Amino acid sequence: MDGKFVAWADAQVHVLTHSLHYGLAAFEGIRCYKGQNGSAIFRLPEHVDRLFESAHIGLMQIPYDRKQITEAIVETVRVNKLEACYIRPLVYIGYGAMGLYPGENPINVSIAAWKWGTYLGDEALAKGIRARVSSFTRHHVNVSMTRGKISGYYVNSILAKREVKADGYDEAIMLDPEGYVAEGTGENVFIVRRGVLKTTPLTSILEGITRNSILQLAKERQIPVVEERFTRDEMYVAEEVFVTGTAAELTPVTEIDQRSIGTGTPGPITKTLQKAFFDVVGGIDPAHRHWLTPV
Ligand code: PMP
Repeated sequence: MDGKFVAWADAQVHVLTHSLHYGLAAFEGIRCYKGQNGSAIFRLPEHVDRLFESAHIGLMQIPYDRKQITEAIVETVRVNKLEACYIRPLVYIGYGAMGLYPGENPINVSIAAWKWGTYLGDEALAKGIRARVSSFTRHHVNVSMTRGKISGYYVNSILAKREVKADGYDEAIMLDPEGYVAEGTGENVFIVRRGVLKTTPLTSILEGITRNSILQLAKERQIPVVEERFTRDEMYVAEEVFVTGTAAELTPVTEIDQRSIGTGTPGPITKTLQKAFFDVVGGIDPAHRHWLTPV
């Protein structure tokens, strides 16, 4: 926290921390994998860049440079002796003036790391999940600037997630204000239709680093890809659907709104790309070692 290692139990903030009240904070979700060449952080420079971009969009000046934040992330994994973990850097407006205008409040930075297994469960990765289109609309571009991974934006995600979980589904798929598919509560969405891999363009979604990796892995395998918006019914009649994210990795979606997708089991393109992804993060694929920062 703010440049010092703090014991887990002492990692506390004042109850009047500005971000805690109003939700303006920037964060990242990063994974460190234990691969065949030891532990390594997946696409760390891209995550650090996005953290700085999110803070910039939110008018928060991080009091460290990218090199310092990068080194602090690696060091946090090292001192915790974690082989595989999830890493959560957070830039927040600290204790000071209350009220919306943050004035001279400090910008605080914390980095936490902990062991975290699969986000949607091992079975979800192998067999796929059941999703529902949310009754909540995803962000309008001039309400929430979605290039930023900003804490307050996740109120919308949490409401959507709780709604579908209460109804027995695993994940919510959210539509944009015009009714086109936007993203999951913490994932980007891909479909395969007539052999073409399609994903939402970046207009009103988070610029997912897993999304970017999957697009690249698909192109390398000569799978045709387009970034083009699509509707919920196109998703219903797709041969395959999957979601991507640091937490969710690449999770097949086999049912949406009571309609089974394709054969109702993870499809061939989904399985090919999932294997490609796990080969990269596991250090098995030599062509993408530059995506891994050894710890
Ligand atoms: N969309 C949202 C809303 C997210 O929270 C995430 C997770 N960070 C993603 C997409 C996927 O982004 P990434 O692959 O960089 O984790």
